[in-house]
Amino acid sequence: MDFKELGIIEPILKALKQQGYTHPTPIQEQAIPILLNRKDLLGCAQTGTGKTAAFTIPILQHLYNSKEDYKGKRKIRSLIITPTRELAIQIDESIKTYGKYTGIKNTVIFGGVKQGAQTDALRRGVDILVATPGRLLDLISQGYISLQDIKYFVLDEADQMLDMGFIHDIKKVIAKLPFKRQSLFFSATMPPSIVELSSKILGNYEKITIKPEQATAEKVEQALFFVSKANKSKLLIHLIEENENASVLVFSRTKHGSDKIVRQLGKASIKAAAIHGNKSQNARQKALSSFKKGELNVLIATDIAARGIDIDDLSVVINYDLPNIPETYVHRIGRTGRAKASGVALSFCNQEEKAYLKDIQKLIKQQIPVIEEHPYVLDENEEIPVPPKQNKNQRKKQHRRSGTKPKEGENSKKPQRRKFNPRNKNKSN
Ligand code: AMP
Repeated sequence: MDFKELGIIEPILKALKQQGYTHPTPIQEQAIPILLNRKDLLGCAQTGTGKTAAFTIPILQHLYNSKEDYKGKRKIRSLIITPTRELAIQIDESIKTYGKYTGIKNTVIFGGVKQGAQTDALRRGVDILVATPGRLLDLISQGYISLQDIKYFVLDEADQMLDMGFIHDIKKVIAKLPFKRQSLFFSATMPPSIVELSSKILGNYEKITIKPEQATAEKVEQALFFVSKANKSKLLIHLIEENENASVLVFSRTKHGSDKIVRQLGKASIKAAAIHGNKSQNARQKALSSFKKGELNVLIATDIAARGIDIDDLSVVINYDLPNIPETYVHRIGRTGRAKASGVALSFCNQEEKAYLKDIQKLIKQQIPVIEEHPYVLDENEEIPVPPKQNKNQRKKQHRRSGTKPKEGENSKKPQRRKFNPRNKNKSN
């Protein structure tokens, strides 16, 4: 099946061809006919599957086909809500790319920046608006946005939206939408709260599910390193140094943790930047764009900041901390191995995280291959309970008191380095 067979119009086909898309991804193959048929859709799918094109192409096509019905100033006829600024910007860029030859206008609004440029764009008139919930409601209340002409509504990453506490904002937006509309609802997971929310948004809908396994197991080469919490930064430095020019996205569970990793890498003369909620919008965009351009090889991100981020040519994803929600693992490793590429995902697992690992392996229905030989292999007894940080003298004192000997490698002796090349995992195994 190709895009033409899906009934996509020429101006969009031309743009897709320019992007080098030859065939629709599974979600596009399933969703596009439903949406062109003007049915509501419940999509259980994560980013990395080609989801954005799956929902933006039919919206562009509907708007293009009804262009003649709309004379005068453009009115917002399609609203796409998504939880993070990065994701909003990315969707906006995708619409520009796919809609290049349609004459449809779109813009994006999000918080954390001055509103002037955004309200100027709105004043000039747009057909499609991509928004994060807070700024959307803010500009509605200031009278810059009216939702009364919305014909196509998309709620993207609904589970993340609830996790981030946007439920009340979403309900307020829904209350302002016209009753007659086509609604699309996407979520990577479908817990009961999401099903309930979807019932408030969707009318007579069709459901499609793109299983996470489809997106991960088939395309991403995964590997696991058992390593103590204390040795994680050393292992990270080791892997980065061994893969000098690779672009590496490192996931940290916390904002504080990601800043700490940046500092530790800095001490080893490795340039890295962190993106998370405490960073200003400008700092996040700057870090992301230098990473995308290849000026910066290492980016440390929290899950929320990195959600949906699309980076071409991302070589390696490293899970510095294993996530406690197994679906998050799938999201993270989906950053590499995007629709058109294959990737490598390396995960660090300490003693405490073994329970998370079990859940992840259950979800992806596979055992992640373990790299048995690396310089910082976890000693099972090493870290229960995790000891408070001690300097060399304190450690010596403790050993003197308890009559124990320092563990191998404990006293700053540099461990032997063994080359690990993720693309040659089997050879180094
Ligand atoms: P998404 O899930 O929308 O974030 O898309 C993931 C990545 O797949 C993006 O880099 C898209 O540019 C790319 N992509 C989407 N559809 C296709 C396709 N049919 N063929 C090749 N790449 C695609």
